[in-house]
Amino acid sequence: MKLLRIPSPFKGVSTLRKEKCRICNSEKGLQVGEVDYWDIANARLIKCEQCGLTQLDPMLTDEETAKGCLAYYIEESLRVSPKEQKRNMLRNFRRGYLFAISLKGKGYYPKDVLELGPGSGYFTAGLKFVFPKVKITVMDINKETLDFNALHHQYETIEAHIENYSPALDNKFDLVIARDIMEHVVDISKVVSNVQKYSKENGLFHFITPNGHEDAWKHYLTFNHLKKASELLINHVNYFDGKGLLNHLTSHGFSPINYYTYNLKTTRKGRGWKTSEKLMASTSKKKNSDFYVEKVNEVKENSFDKNSLLNQWYIYDGPNLITNFICWYQHSSLIRLSPTLNIGHEIHGLFKITKSDKA
Ligand SMILES: [Zn+2]
Repeated sequence: MKLLRIPSPFKGVSTLRKEKCRICNSEKGLQVGEVDYWDIANARLIKCEQCGLTQLDPMLTDEETAKGCLAYYIEESLRVSPKEQKRNMLRNFRRGYLFAISLKGKGYYPKDVLELGPGSGYFTAGLKFVFPKVKITVMDINKETLDFNALHHQYETIEAHIENYSPALDNKFDLVIARDIMEHVVDISKVVSNVQKYSKENGLFHFITPNGHEDAWKHYLTFNHLKKASELLINHVNYFDGKGLLNHLTSHGFSPINYYTYNLKTTRKGRGWKTSEKLMASTSKKKNSDFYVEKVNEVKENSFDKNSLLNQWYIYDGPNLITNFICWYQHSSLIRLSPTLNIGHEIHGLFKITKSDKA
C-alpha cells in the first residue's frame, strides 16, 4: 500500500528558466503549471528546487500587472455588492483589533506604523482603535486607494511602488504590515530588504499570505491532468513554500514571534494533495481584459461613512472585553500549525527585525 502524503509533492521536469529565481538566483526549476493572465500574458509556473519558491516565468511586467489589476478591480466592483464590501471592511476592522490586542498582550505598543497595500484601511483602523495614538502611514501605487485611506482614516499616504526603495523612510517605523501583498510582488527579496530598512531596530513585521503549495495546487492539477494552461485573474505571482519563506526571512535578520498556518478546512477538502477535477483551476479562456477596462465608468463611487459602519453593538469607545470576545470568536484560529508543513490555507507571520547596519 502506498502511503498518502499530505501535502502531496509536486512532480515535474527540471527545466531551464527564462528568468532567475528572485530569492536564490537559481537558473533551473520544476515546471508545475502554465497560466494565462487574462488575455495579457502567458507564463509557466516554476518551482525553485533550491529555495522552494514557485513563481511565474517569465514574470509579469509592470504594465501587464497594471492592466490586469485594473480589469480585476472593475470586474470585482461590478460583482461584489456594496453591502458585502462593507461587511469585508468590518471584518478587517475586527482582525486589526484582534491583532492589536495580541500585540498588547506581548508587551508591544507600536507608535509608527507603515502598511503596504492597505486596501480599505480598516485593518489598521482596528489597530488604531486599540492604540489611539498610533501614527499610520500607507503606501500604495493606486491613487484611488490612497485617497480612500486619507479621506476615511486621515492616514498619511505615500504613492510609491513597494519594491522601489525610498531612503527617506529608513528607520521610521516600529511596525510594518503587508497583508496579502507578498504573493503579488515581482521581487520578494526587494520587499523584504525594504521592510528591514524602513523598520527601526527591533521593529515588527506582520504579514499574511496564502499557503503557496495549496494556492499552486489547482494550477498543477490542470497542467498535469488536462495538459492545459489555467486561468489567472488575480496576479498571484509568488507561491511561497513555508520553509523557504522562513529561511529567507531569518537569513535577513527577521526572527519569528508567530509563524503559523490556519484554516484547515481547505486541506480537509483535498487542496494540496488530492487529484480531483473539482480542485482544478479553470482552463484558460484568455478572458478579455479590455472588456472590463472599458467599463471603468460603470463602477460607482462608494460613499461609506466610517461612523455608521463601525456603529455595531459590540464596538464601544475603546477596547473592552465584549469587543475582545466578539473579535476573538469571529476570527481567532484555534488550530495553528507550522507553515513548514505546507498545509492549511494561509500563513500568518509576526517577526522581529534586527538591522544589519546599526549606523
Ligand atoms: Zn530559488
